[in-house]
Amino acid sequence: MALVEAVVVAAGASRRMRGADKLALKINGKSILAHTVEGVLACERVGRIILCVRAEQVEEMSAWLSGLQALGTREWQVIAGGEERHVTVSRALSALSEDCSIVVIQDGARPMCTGAWVDRGIDLALAEGAAVAGHPARDTIKQVEDGGRVVQTPPRSRLWHAETPQVFQVALLRQAHARAMEKGLSLTDDAMAMEIAGYPVRMYEVGANIKVTVPEDLCQVRALKGDERTMRIGYGFDAHRLATGRRLVLCGVTVPCTRGLLGHSDADVAVHALMDALLGACALGDIGQHFPQTAEFDGANSMALLARVMALVDGAGYRLENCDITLTAQSPRLAPYIPAMRQALAGGMNVELGRVSVKATTTEHMGYEGRGEGISAAAVVLLSPKGDDLWR
Ligand code: MG
Repeated sequence: MALVEAVVVAAGASRRMRGADKLALKINGKSILAHTVEGVLACERVGRIILCVRAEQVEEMSAWLSGLQALGTREWQVIAGGEERHVTVSRALSALSEDCSIVVIQDGARPMCTGAWVDRGIDLALAEGAAVAGHPARDTIKQVEDGGRVVQTPPRSRLWHAETPQVFQVALLRQAHARAMEKGLSLTDDAMAMEIAGYPVRMYEVGANIKVTVPEDLCQVRALKGDERTMRIGYGFDAHRLATGRRLVLCGVTVPCTRGLLGHSDADVAVHALMDALLGACALGDIGQHFPQTAEFDGANSMALLARVMALVDGAGYRLENCDITLTAQSPRLAPYIPAMRQALAGGMNVELGRVSVKATTTEHMGYEGRGEGISAAAVVLLSPKGDDLWR
């Protein structure tokens, strides 16, 4: 039986991903690289895996790979890749076991890879020497010069996109690679070395095999893999009684008034509703649970509590897209204070002013707010998953 080893190439610099380490980006809470490696390891014929990473990542990635459940009892090695892909691959070829006869080469940034794709590649490589996963070109492809002048249009029916896995008989690939290196040829994939050496290469079609290169690719992979991380909505409501001898604090702003709201803390009803909305969006309970009516929170500044709630939101992996608060009070008139309220909340949550809306209404003397017995506030928030800074 052929001894199969896999090489996962993950030593690139993610230049087109606006600086993000794309292989560390998460899909369903798991990195792109983890999806790729697990896809390869899902093929049980793969007996050993070599992961090629940037030199400074070797230690960290060794710790990660050694603990990966999908690895099982299989052997593994993490090596430092080179500046260019063909250098990385030639280092990996030197790291294969002596008796390895089939090598599977896989791009780290192709997280859709499945064990079945690897399996098929192995069968074809055993039969024909080399097999490359890919798909027939759907678009017409132009050959250009001088940054855009069309030289010719090759017939589409004969064009395929070459992807990975690419699977080879090791002896043939070693020879072909060495020859290409000698000639100083620049290889954009590994099958190219085989073609130049005159060895047959078989293309085989696989399903959606997205390579995460630009941010839009990540959206596609997340959609295909049913990533459940979506936006979260939250709603909060609060009401406090008006009483003499109290300061009226709304959205962190002191509003001149003969009466203020009664409560254990500063009774900032708007900030309370907002905090409940934020906690609700993360399914983290409510402010009563987080800030009980104990001595610790006696006379508490609600804006300080808001900062703590924002830290919880951050810890849950979310950030504020926007919030909208409606204050219901018959009096005093709140309109003059709304700009200051928005400023205070935006500052307190460390977000742009445009993400914060505060509105005020009366109830035309109906209900407890209308009778001046108290003030209520309702808040809605929308949160988005963090780590998607690429789109901002
Ligand atoms: Mg309250």
